[in-house]
Amino acid sequence: MEEYINHIAATSAPKAMTLTELHNCTERDATLQAVIHAIRFGKWEIARQRPGVNTASFDRIHKVRGELSVTESGNLILRGTRIVVPHELQQRAVELAHVGHQGMVKTKALIREKVWFSGIDHRVEEMIRSCMACQVATPTQTREPLKMSALPERPWSEISTDFGQVPGMGTHFMVISDDFSRYVVVEPVSSLTASAVIPVLDKIIGEFGVPDVVKSDNGPPFNSSAFSDYARHKGFKHRKITPLWPLANAEAERFMRTVKKSIKAAIAEGKSWNQELHSFLLNYRATPHSSTGIPPATLMFGRAIKTTLPRIAYEQPQHDVRQKDSESKARRKVYADRKAYVRESGIKIGEPVLMKREGMRKSDPPFCPKPLVVTKRNGSMVTAECLGKTVTRNSSRFKHSPTRPENVPTSSDEEEDELGLHQYPGPDDPPPDTVVQHAPRLPEVQGRPQRERRLPERFKDFVMA
Ligand SMILES: [Zn+2]
Repeated sequence: MEEYINHIAATSAPKAMTLTELHNCTERDATLQAVIHAIRFGKWEIARQRPGVNTASFDRIHKVRGELSVTESGNLILRGTRIVVPHELQQRAVELAHVGHQGMVKTKALIREKVWFSGIDHRVEEMIRSCMACQVATPTQTREPLKMSALPERPWSEISTDFGQVPGMGTHFMVISDDFSRYVVVEPVSSLTASAVIPVLDKIIGEFGVPDVVKSDNGPPFNSSAFSDYARHKGFKHRKITPLWPLANAEAERFMRTVKKSIKAAIAEGKSWNQELHSFLLNYRATPHSSTGIPPATLMFGRAIKTTLPRIAYEQPQHDVRQKDSESKARRKVYADRKAYVRESGIKIGEPVLMKREGMRKSDPPFCPKPLVVTKRNGSMVTAECLGKTVTRNSSRFKHSPTRPENVPTSSDEEEDELGLHQYPGPDDPPPDTVVQHAPRLPEVQGRPQRERRLPERFKDFVMA
């Protein structure tokens, strides 16, 4: 224990950010004070001229004024549910999100869950680009094929196991991941034998409950009679996944890569790998997952876990029925987001595009050089407009345009610009947040929406069927 505490003092890990610090620094920040004044009295032009205001940053905040509010205490600004971080604390916020070296897109996704400030993406980009650990360990940018197996009904129903080892280190890791929430548990195991693995799995099951199905390869710990006895005893089904079908395990392998990356980075920085692993897991579990768009911990526990980044408190669903409802909503969202992700390679509303020529001659280039702007998307159909003329075609007939058409207003949504939508997400990276914003418009995939069922007060002694 003592070693661990000493180690915390020795590492250069950034200190968690508290709400008190945010209050104090917001009070000292002339720009944010001007913004608070402007939100209250609506006089942005006057507030902008107050002494000490950084006008560039004030203007960027002004662009999102419709989403801003001031907390009751009067000394924090919120953009939606995210806290606006004063200049003094911005660097640390970026450092806190960067813990675990999750790479560009995930670090952005994590920080955006909790806080906001003008130029936030740019700051993250600067940090990740200059971070050797992130650069060296980030795999080449390829598009990960979607995992097509059906999503389990609920958290911790179907879990997958995998093992990994960091080259040069004796320790093996067992990674247990929940196929619904993508929540992961990582435990060191002394060897890949049933007698080493079963106690570790047993501990995890003790914490999270007995799953319905445990998936694994057919390796030594799992093909033993001891393991099948254990499965029978606990009452879960053991499903062996053939290693010849790599897609089945793609997600576990992808995560394993990320774990190794985090451990390697820790070693490279001379830090304790296991402590670094815990910090990495905390951030990983709180970062929206690429397949679901929701942080694994949120789907797993029905609440958002707190990280070292600050957040404002908001009501958590507590009632059992409500939780079920939110679970099913979350599940529908998962499907919807997935569907959106499939389209992700495509094109978004407000983006400039080029359209394939129709009935073209051989001498023509395949795309018409006049850019259009996307005004509508419906499934795979895209509607685009140029100088008042609209065309609707299958999305495959469009591609991104490097320039916008003249006389067409640019998208006012600063978020989209900040997201760098033209970057292809890496295998560890979630699709851009905007997918989530578009998700509610998608058709419900899971049948009719379930409404929360409440019995009238007088029936409260009856059981709902
Ligand atoms: Zn890094």
